[in-house]
Amino acid sequence: MTIRLFNTLTNAIEELHAADGEALRIYACGPTVYDYGHIGNFRTFLHVDVLRRVLELLGMKVRHVMNITDVDDKIIRNAAAANVPISEYTPRFEKAFFEDLDALSVEHPEVVARATEHIPEMVNLIQRLAEQDLAYKTEDGSWYFRIAGFSEYGKLSKKDFTGITDGARVDVDEYDKDSARDFALWKAPKPGEYRWETELGPGRPGWHIECSAMAMEYLGESFDLHAGGEDLMFPHHENEIAQSESATHKTFARHWFHVRFLLVEGRKMSKSEGNFYTLRDLLLKGYKASAIRFLLTAVPYRQQLNFKFDGLIAETRAVERLRTFDQRLRSITPAANTNPELATATEEASRNFCAALANDLNTAEARAAVFELVSLGNAAADAGTLGAENIAQIRELLTDFDKIFSVLEDNDAQWTRFALEWAEREGRLDEASPEVRAQLSLSDAQIDELIEQRNQARRTRNFARADAIRKELLEKGILLEDSKDGVRWKRK
Ligand SMILES: [Zn+2]
Repeated sequence: MTIRLFNTLTNAIEELHAADGEALRIYACGPTVYDYGHIGNFRTFLHVDVLRRVLELLGMKVRHVMNITDVDDKIIRNAAAANVPISEYTPRFEKAFFEDLDALSVEHPEVVARATEHIPEMVNLIQRLAEQDLAYKTEDGSWYFRIAGFSEYGKLSKKDFTGITDGARVDVDEYDKDSARDFALWKAPKPGEYRWETELGPGRPGWHIECSAMAMEYLGESFDLHAGGEDLMFPHHENEIAQSESATHKTFARHWFHVRFLLVEGRKMSKSEGNFYTLRDLLLKGYKASAIRFLLTAVPYRQQLNFKFDGLIAETRAVERLRTFDQRLRSITPAANTNPELATATEEASRNFCAALANDLNTAEARAAVFELVSLGNAAADAGTLGAENIAQIRELLTDFDKIFSVLEDNDAQWTRFALEWAEREGRLDEASPEVRAQLSLSDAQIDELIEQRNQARRTRNFARADAIRKELLEKGILLEDSKDGVRWKRK
């Protein structure tokens, strides 16, 4: 089965193929590591994750490259305010970014490339442009790309830039959304600013050139798919195309994949609106990492998601329902015979699940197919008509489902605790809700009480409950040790 995906460049849904017949070469714009990522960023990273997981499920190999922007105006500004060099400022936010991806169960790309480690490649690309008179140097020593020299400018964002003013420039990383101006490839240093000494002169790279240079370094001058949030389409991706295709005279990326922005409670997310959330904010409020992943992937990537707290609660229940069903399938005694209607329904659900994902990653329909089957499966289990073959068949579908959605394994307590410990280190514990804060430590009396409940469960041979209590204590940092004198415990 092949996957059909909307291509922003051609404005059509197209089959996606690996041009080299081996691995799909994907470049996805990564984070600028000057702060913690917000849920809008993570919606994009999650849908890129869904894309690569679907490709893998369909048996394709993926070579996925992501950049880390570890030098730009905001980083320089923030590092200066914190009075540290940028090389000391960015690592903590890069680390936090990968921790957040792990909390959201996002697969890591095959290659992670930092901008500051690819300066020679960027200098080389700018020199190639300069040789064709498509890059020019200004008096202060910065280099700009000549947009008027690239006649196809605007082909991705479908903006009409006829009559572009030759030589009009923009020299900040924060761009006007509607005007085309020559953009900085290389920025001369301001007094006191960190600089690289290069053949272009001293300075640092612009934001756009890093993605072009690193994509070509790891994927070649022409590759299969470029991904990013819709906010990057213009000017960032348009500029990547202009400078790459001008330098190589080849198609840069054949397929462009853009993830739409989300709203929060019906409004645009912004700090000034007070509805701006990082992943850590939500974990500290007591929302589970799995529910956040499930909600952020619930609506197909080209549709706007309205992120609501009610929605998070509903997704928590939905995840719980799946986990309970999965558990039930593992522990139930099968009926003597296979239930033929259920077998047919399971086949149909499996087909619909795959077809929905292969059809432009329709996550909503893929989920619906599986949830419908959960209802049928539970009804059959209640009626005692769930045969061994039914169980095996349904579990196979759940396994495929989880290869994409990745919510069945319960690591939620671990990630909540992780966020709490982070907040404690950062002096931000007051941002955690009281219920969440209570998890940070249990009193001795609470621990004794739980151990007593576990003993009780063991006496009544309810080993599942006993194990659940042991696990709960472990997640709260309490280790149990069974001995012939009873149970001892210690804090981790
Ligand atoms: Zn980029």
